[in-house]
Amino acid sequence: MELLQKKIIKEGIALSDTVLKVDNFLNHQIDPQLMNEIGKEFAARFKGEGITKIVTLESSGIAPAVMTGLVLDVPVIFARKKKSLTLTEGLITSQVYSYTKQETNDISIASKFLNDQDHVLIIDDFLANGQAALALVDIVEKTNASIAGIGIVIEKAFQDGGKFLSEKGCRVESLARIQSLANQTIEFVNWETSVK
Ligand code: 5GP
Repeated sequence: MELLQKKIIKEGIALSDTVLKVDNFLNHQIDPQLMNEIGKEFAARFKGEGITKIVTLESSGIAPAVMTGLVLDVPVIFARKKKSLTLTEGLITSQVYSYTKQETNDISIASKFLNDQDHVLIIDDFLANGQAALALVDIVEKTNASIAGIGIVIEKAFQDGGKFLSEKGCRVESLARIQSLANQTIEFVNWETSVK
C-alpha cells in the first residue's frame, strides 16, 4: 500500500535492526485519514469473504480494525491484555509470548461475542514472530468460529511470523512488508514496484 509505505519512510524510525517505531501515526498518535485508507484497503482485500466479525488485540490493533469494521459493516472485538472487572463471563484465553518485552501474557475475549456461525477477520498492527496473531487464531478457534484471514498493517518479513501463519494455513494480507531495518534504513519487499 503506497500511502502507508511513504508514511513509514517519512515518519518511521528504525530503532534497531529488528524494531520499527511508528508512534507518529499508529502506536501512540494515530493518523485517522491513514487509518481510514487502511480500513478501505483491508475491506477491499477481504470483500466477498462473508466476514461477520473482526478480532484484534488492544491497543494498537483497534484503530485499523475499527476502520475496517466500518467499511465491512461488522462489529470489532478487541482481545484484552489485562483482566477487567467487567469482563467476567465466559472468558476465552490464550497466551502470547512477547519477544520485545520478553514476557508471557494472557489475552482474553468474552465468548458471547463469537460463535460457530462467525467468519472472522483478524487484524493487528505488526507481524513479527507471529505470537500475537497465533494467539488470536487460537482464541477464535476455541469459539468454533472460522477464520477468513489475517490483516496486518506492517509485516517484518525478515522475521518468522508470516511463515508460521502460512504453515497453519492462514491467509495473510500485509499492507506493508519490510525486508530489512539494518543500518537504520527501512527497506520494503518490492520497494521499486510499489513506491515511486
Ligand atoms: P509478534 O507477536 O508477531 O512477535 O509481534 C507482534 C506484536 O509485537 C505487535 O502487536 C506489536 O505490538 C509488537 N511489535 C513487534 N514488532 C514490532 C516493531 O518492530 N515495532 C512496533 N512498534 N511494535 C512491534
